[in-house]
Amino acid sequence: MKELKKIERIFTRPAQAGMVGDGFRVYNYFPTGYPLRAKLSPFLMLDFNPAFDFGASNHPRGVDVHPHKGFETVTIAYKGSVEHYDSTGNRGVIKPGDVQWMTAGAGILHKEFHETEFSKKGGPFEMVQLWVNLPKSHKLTPAKYQAIEASSMNKVDLPNDGGVVSVIAGEFNGVKGSASTFTEINAFDIRLNKHGEVITDISAVHNAAILVVEGSVEINSQQAGLHNFVLFKNEGETITIKATEKSVLLLLSGVPINEPIAQYGPFVMNTQQELQEAFREFESGKFGVLN
Ligand code: MN
Repeated sequence: MKELKKIERIFTRPAQAGMVGDGFRVYNYFPTGYPLRAKLSPFLMLDFNPAFDFGASNHPRGVDVHPHKGFETVTIAYKGSVEHYDSTGNRGVIKPGDVQWMTAGAGILHKEFHETEFSKKGGPFEMVQLWVNLPKSHKLTPAKYQAIEASSMNKVDLPNDGGVVSVIAGEFNGVKGSASTFTEINAFDIRLNKHGEVITDISAVHNAAILVVEGSVEINSQQAGLHNFVLFKNEGETITIKATEKSVLLLLSGVPINEPIAQYGPFVMNTQQELQEAFREFESGKFGVLN
Protein backbone atom coordinates (compact mmCIF):
# COMPACT_ATOMS: atom_id res chain seq x y z
CA MET A 1 0.00 0.00 0.00
CA LYS A 2 1.49 3.30 -1.08
CA GLU A 3 1.09 6.46 0.90
CA LEU A 4 -1.19 9.32 -0.03
CA LYS A 5 0.62 12.10 -1.82
CA LYS A 6 0.87 15.07 0.52
CA ILE A 7 -0.60 18.39 -0.55
CA GLU A 8 1.73 21.35 -0.09
CA ARG A 9 -0.84 24.08 -0.70
CA ILE A 10 -4.06 24.82 -2.57
CA PHE A 11 -3.84 28.13 -4.42
CA THR A 12 -6.82 30.19 -5.48
CA ARG A 13 -7.00 31.67 -8.96
CA PRO A 14 -4.66 34.67 -9.25
CA ALA A 15 -6.53 37.96 -8.81
CA GLN A 16 -5.92 39.58 -12.18
CA ALA A 17 -6.41 38.29 -15.70
CA GLY A 18 -4.13 39.68 -18.40
CA MET A 19 -4.46 39.72 -22.16
CA VAL A 20 -2.12 37.77 -24.45
CA GLY A 21 -2.59 39.52 -27.77
CA ASP A 22 -6.29 40.34 -28.06
CA GLY A 23 -7.51 36.73 -28.01
CA PHE A 24 -6.44 35.15 -24.75
CA ARG A 25 -7.74 36.44 -21.42
CA VAL A 26 -5.49 34.49 -19.09
CA TYR A 27 -4.71 34.05 -15.44
CA ASN A 28 -1.03 33.27 -15.11
CA TYR A 29 -0.83 30.69 -12.30
CA PHE A 30 2.97 30.56 -12.50
CA PRO A 31 5.57 31.94 -12.60
CA THR A 32 3.90 35.40 -12.27
CA GLY A 33 0.77 34.58 -10.23
CA TYR A 34 2.68 32.32 -7.86
CA PRO A 35 6.49 31.80 -7.96
CA LEU A 36 6.35 28.03 -8.37
CA ARG A 37 8.96 27.36 -11.03
CA ALA A 38 11.37 25.58 -8.71
CA LYS A 39 8.56 23.41 -7.36
CA LEU A 40 7.07 22.63 -10.76
CA SER A 41 10.03 21.99 -13.05
CA PRO A 42 9.91 20.82 -15.89
CA PHE A 43 6.85 23.10 -16.25
CA LEU A 44 7.82 26.73 -16.82
CA MET A 45 4.49 28.48 -17.09
CA LEU A 46 0.75 27.94 -16.95
CA ASP A 47 -1.76 30.37 -18.45
CA PHE A 48 -5.44 29.57 -18.00
CA ASN A 49 -8.20 31.31 -19.94
CA PRO A 50 -11.36 30.19 -18.12
CA ALA A 51 -14.56 30.21 -20.19
CA PHE A 52 -14.96 33.71 -21.61
CA ASP A 53 -17.03 34.97 -24.53
CA PHE A 54 -15.10 37.53 -26.56
CA GLY A 55 -18.15 38.07 -28.81
CA ALA A 56 -18.54 37.60 -32.55
CA SER A 57 -15.81 39.09 -34.73
CA ASN A 58 -14.95 39.04 -38.42
CA HIS A 59 -11.31 39.57 -37.49
CA PRO A 60 -10.05 36.56 -35.53
CA ARG A 61 -8.52 37.56 -32.20
CA GLY A 62 -5.17 36.19 -31.14
CA VAL A 63 -1.41 36.64 -31.21
CA ASP A 64 0.42 37.46 -34.42
CA VAL A 65 3.79 36.06 -35.54
CA HIS A 66 6.27 35.56 -32.66
CA PRO A 67 9.26 33.31 -31.96
CA HIS A 68 9.97 30.59 -29.40
CA LYS A 69 13.20 28.74 -28.65
CA GLY A 70 14.43 26.18 -26.12
CA PHE A 71 11.19 24.68 -24.79
CA GLU A 72 7.71 23.41 -25.74
CA THR A 73 4.32 25.11 -25.79
CA VAL A 74 1.33 22.90 -25.06
CA THR A 75 -2.13 24.21 -25.88
CA ILE A 76 -5.11 22.39 -24.40
CA ALA A 77 -8.52 23.44 -25.74
CA TYR A 78 -11.64 23.04 -23.60
CA LYS A 79 -14.06 25.37 -25.38
CA GLY A 80 -13.74 27.23 -28.68
CA SER A 81 -11.08 26.64 -31.34
CA VAL A 82 -7.62 27.98 -32.08
CA GLU A 83 -5.98 28.14 -35.48
CA HIS A 84 -2.22 27.86 -35.62
CA TYR A 85 0.41 28.49 -38.30
CA ASP A 86 4.16 28.05 -37.98
CA SER A 87 7.39 28.53 -39.90
CA THR A 88 7.86 24.77 -40.43
CA GLY A 89 4.77 24.92 -42.67
CA ASN A 90 2.40 23.39 -40.15
CA ARG A 91 -1.13 24.64 -39.86
CA GLY A 92 -3.75 23.20 -37.55
CA VAL A 93 -6.98 23.82 -35.72
CA ILE A 94 -7.13 22.93 -32.03
CA LYS A 95 -10.73 22.06 -31.16
CA PRO A 96 -12.32 21.27 -27.77
CA GLY A 97 -10.57 18.23 -26.27
CA ASP A 98 -7.59 18.54 -28.63
CA VAL A 99 -4.03 19.22 -27.56
CA GLN A 100 -1.27 20.78 -29.56
CA TRP A 101 2.20 19.89 -28.32
CA MET A 102 4.65 22.18 -30.12
CA THR A 103 8.37 21.73 -29.67
CA ALA A 104 10.06 25.05 -30.36
CA GLY A 105 13.48 23.46 -29.79
CA ALA A 106 16.12 25.17 -31.96
CA GLY A 107 13.63 27.88 -32.93
CA ILE A 108 10.27 28.49 -34.57
CA LEU A 109 7.93 31.31 -35.54
CA HIS A 110 4.21 30.84 -35.07
CA LYS A 111 0.92 32.66 -34.72
CA GLU A 112 -2.16 31.68 -32.73
CA PHE A 113 -5.64 32.99 -33.51
CA HIS A 114 -9.22 32.03 -32.75
CA GLU A 115 -10.41 29.81 -35.58
CA THR A 116 -12.21 31.84 -38.30
CA GLU A 117 -15.66 30.22 -38.10
CA PHE A 118 -15.60 30.20 -34.29
CA SER A 119 -14.67 33.91 -34.33
CA LYS A 120 -17.65 34.77 -36.55
CA LYS A 121 -20.05 33.12 -34.12
CA GLY A 122 -18.37 33.89 -30.79
CA GLY A 123 -19.17 31.83 -27.69
CA PRO A 124 -17.32 30.51 -24.67
CA PHE A 125 -13.59 30.14 -25.15
CA GLU A 126 -11.55 28.13 -22.64
CA MET A 127 -7.89 27.12 -23.00
CA VAL A 128 -4.74 26.29 -21.11
CA GLN A 129 -1.28 27.05 -22.40
CA LEU A 130 1.52 25.29 -20.65
CA TRP A 131 5.22 25.81 -21.25
CA VAL A 132 7.40 22.74 -20.77
CA ASN A 133 11.14 23.10 -20.45
CA LEU A 134 13.57 21.06 -22.53
CA PRO A 135 16.72 19.66 -20.95
CA LYS A 136 20.02 21.14 -22.16
CA SER A 137 20.64 18.01 -24.22
CA HIS A 138 17.48 18.63 -26.30
CA LYS A 139 17.15 22.41 -26.39
CA LEU A 140 18.34 22.53 -29.99
CA THR A 141 16.16 19.69 -31.25
CA PRO A 142 14.48 20.55 -34.58
CA ALA A 143 11.13 22.31 -34.16
CA LYS A 144 8.14 19.97 -34.44
CA TYR A 145 4.49 19.77 -33.77
CA GLN A 146 2.19 17.05 -32.42
CA ALA A 147 -1.48 17.57 -33.17
CA ILE A 148 -3.31 15.28 -30.77
CA GLU A 149 -6.99 15.15 -31.56
CA ALA A 150 -9.53 14.32 -28.87
CA SER A 151 -10.82 11.37 -30.92
CA SER A 152 -7.36 9.77 -31.21
CA MET A 153 -6.26 10.33 -27.61
CA ASN A 154 -5.76 7.27 -25.42
CA LYS A 155 -8.58 7.16 -22.88
CA VAL A 156 -9.48 5.28 -19.73
CA ASP A 157 -13.10 4.89 -18.66
CA LEU A 158 -13.43 5.11 -14.89
CA PRO A 159 -15.42 2.51 -12.95
CA ASN A 160 -19.04 3.06 -11.90
CA ASP A 161 -19.62 5.60 -14.68
CA GLY A 162 -17.18 7.87 -12.82
CA GLY A 163 -15.95 9.63 -15.91
CA VAL A 164 -13.04 9.40 -18.35
CA VAL A 165 -9.33 10.20 -18.31
CA SER A 166 -7.65 11.25 -21.54
CA VAL A 167 -3.96 10.48 -21.30
CA ILE A 168 -2.29 13.42 -23.03
CA ALA A 169 1.22 12.35 -22.03
CA GLY A 170 2.93 9.87 -19.73
CA GLU A 171 1.09 6.90 -18.30
CA PHE A 172 -2.18 6.67 -16.42
CA ASN A 173 -2.85 3.37 -14.59
CA GLY A 174 -0.95 1.42 -17.28
CA VAL A 175 -2.28 3.32 -20.32
CA LYS A 176 0.29 5.32 -22.27
CA GLY A 177 -0.19 8.92 -23.31
CA SER A 178 -0.46 10.17 -26.85
CA ALA A 179 2.29 12.83 -26.84
CA SER A 180 5.97 12.00 -27.01
CA THR A 181 8.01 14.02 -24.53
CA PHE A 182 11.75 14.61 -23.99
CA THR A 183 11.63 14.06 -20.23
CA GLU A 184 9.26 11.98 -18.09
CA ILE A 185 5.97 13.91 -17.92
CA ASN A 186 2.36 13.08 -17.11
CA ALA A 187 -0.48 15.22 -18.41
CA PHE A 188 -3.99 13.90 -17.81
CA ASP A 189 -7.29 15.47 -18.82
CA ILE A 190 -9.65 14.12 -16.13
CA ARG A 191 -13.42 14.43 -16.62
CA LEU A 192 -15.47 13.29 -13.66
CA ASN A 193 -19.20 12.88 -13.32
CA LYS A 194 -20.81 13.97 -10.05
CA HIS A 195 -19.52 11.57 -7.34
CA GLY A 196 -17.05 10.09 -9.85
CA GLU A 197 -13.77 8.87 -8.39
CA VAL A 198 -10.27 8.39 -9.70
CA ILE A 199 -7.22 6.91 -8.00
CA THR A 200 -3.73 7.02 -9.46
CA ASP A 201 -0.13 6.86 -8.28
CA ILE A 202 2.39 9.52 -9.26
CA SER A 203 6.05 8.96 -8.36
CA ALA A 204 7.22 11.04 -5.39
CA VAL A 205 10.18 12.10 -7.56
CA HIS A 206 7.77 13.95 -9.87
CA ASN A 207 6.74 17.51 -9.18
CA ALA A 208 2.95 17.47 -9.42
CA ALA A 209 -0.09 19.74 -9.46
CA ILE A 210 -3.77 19.73 -10.41
CA LEU A 211 -5.75 22.61 -11.94
CA VAL A 212 -9.51 22.53 -11.33
CA VAL A 213 -10.70 23.72 -14.76
CA GLU A 214 -14.39 23.19 -14.03
CA GLY A 215 -16.39 21.97 -11.05
CA SER A 216 -15.07 21.11 -7.59
CA VAL A 217 -13.47 18.03 -6.08
CA GLU A 218 -12.00 16.49 -2.98
CA ILE A 219 -8.34 15.53 -3.41
CA ASN A 220 -6.85 13.29 -0.72
CA SER A 221 -9.69 14.50 1.51
CA GLN A 222 -9.01 18.21 0.94
CA GLN A 223 -11.57 20.39 -0.83
CA ALA A 224 -10.40 21.97 -4.10
CA GLY A 225 -12.86 24.39 -5.68
CA LEU A 226 -13.33 25.95 -9.09
CA HIS A 227 -10.07 27.25 -10.61
CA ASN A 228 -8.01 26.17 -7.60
CA PHE A 229 -4.49 24.93 -8.20
CA VAL A 230 -3.35 22.07 -5.99
CA LEU A 231 0.41 21.77 -5.48
CA PHE A 232 1.73 18.47 -4.12
CA LYS A 233 4.80 17.76 -2.02
CA ASN A 234 7.36 15.22 -3.20
CA GLU A 235 6.08 12.85 -0.53
CA GLY A 236 3.76 9.91 -1.10
CA GLU A 237 2.34 8.65 -4.37
CA THR A 238 -1.38 8.00 -4.26
CA ILE A 239 -3.85 10.66 -5.41
CA THR A 240 -7.54 10.00 -4.82
CA ILE A 241 -10.04 12.41 -6.31
CA LYS A 242 -13.78 12.51 -5.69
CA ALA A 243 -15.97 14.87 -7.65
CA THR A 244 -18.41 16.96 -5.62
CA GLU A 245 -20.00 17.92 -8.94
CA LYS A 246 -19.30 17.30 -12.64
CA SER A 247 -15.68 18.39 -12.97
CA VAL A 248 -12.78 18.83 -15.38
CA LEU A 249 -9.21 18.63 -14.06
CA LEU A 250 -5.75 18.93 -15.52
CA LEU A 251 -3.16 16.82 -13.70
CA LEU A 252 0.47 17.64 -14.46
CA SER A 253 3.58 15.95 -13.16
CA GLY A 254 7.15 15.45 -14.22
CA VAL A 255 10.72 14.72 -13.25
CA PRO A 256 12.39 18.07 -12.50
CA ILE A 257 15.09 19.35 -14.83
CA ASN A 258 17.80 20.57 -12.48
CA GLU A 259 19.56 22.94 -14.84
CA PRO A 260 19.92 26.73 -14.86
CA ILE A 261 17.17 28.72 -16.60
CA ALA A 262 17.92 31.88 -18.58
CA GLN A 263 14.74 33.38 -19.99
CA TYR A 264 13.94 36.42 -22.03
CA GLY A 265 10.29 36.46 -23.11
CA PRO A 266 9.74 33.61 -25.58
CA PHE A 267 13.28 32.22 -25.32
CA VAL A 268 14.22 29.80 -22.53
CA MET A 269 17.86 28.73 -22.53
CA ASN A 270 20.49 27.83 -19.91
CA THR A 271 22.83 30.84 -20.15
CA GLN A 272 22.73 34.57 -20.97
CA GLN A 273 25.06 33.92 -23.87
CA GLU A 274 22.60 31.43 -25.37
CA LEU A 275 19.80 34.00 -24.96
CA GLN A 276 21.81 36.57 -26.91
CA GLU A 277 22.41 33.98 -29.58
CA ALA A 278 18.67 33.24 -29.74
CA PHE A 279 18.04 36.95 -30.25
CA ARG A 280 20.62 37.23 -33.03
CA GLU A 281 19.17 34.18 -34.77
CA PHE A 282 15.64 35.58 -34.54
CA GLU A 283 16.73 39.02 -35.84
CA SER A 284 18.66 37.50 -38.72
CA GLY A 285 15.69 35.39 -39.84
CA LYS A 286 17.13 32.02 -38.83
CA PHE A 287 13.80 30.83 -37.42
CA GLY A 288 12.31 30.86 -40.92
CA VAL A 289 9.54 32.89 -42.48
CA LEU A 290 5.90 33.25 -41.53
CA ASN A 291 3.56 35.92 -42.82
MN1 MN B 1 3.36 31.25 -28.83
